[in-house]
Amino acid sequence: MYVLDTEASFDAAHFLTNYEGKCKNIHGHRWRVVLSICGDPINGMVVDFNIIKKDLKELCDYFDHTFIVEKDSLRKEVFDLLNEDFVLRVVPFRTTAENFSKYFYDELSKKYKVLEVCVYETPNNCARYVCK
Ligand SMILES: [Zn+2]
Repeated sequence: MYVLDTEASFDAAHFLTNYEGKCKNIHGHRWRVVLSICGDPINGMVVDFNIIKKDLKELCDYFDHTFIVEKDSLRKEVFDLLNEDFVLRVVPFRTTAENFSKYFYDELSKKYKVLEVCVYETPNNCARYVCK
């Protein structure tokens, strides 16, 4: 079996709900997403790198320079006020690296045989969702 790795990144703000510590405040990260797909090659290629790079970049671009908000985590009046002037991306999960790795895994598994997705929220810390 062969494994292909590619990566993309996005800059975004978030905060953690139900968390006591610095991360309960709005702050930003450069989220780095490393995708690994596996398979057997046809004519020497598992998948064209240009295609997987483009698909991963599209998913990352959706979040780039936005404020990522867990659904129902802001009071309605606060959400509405922020939503007037900023690009908010609402997700149905707590905005942890773990949940983002599962999110990217699920999205990319619609098209590829994904082995794992690693999401780095700092250069030293990453969460990895691995194919069962
Ligand atoms: Zn954070």
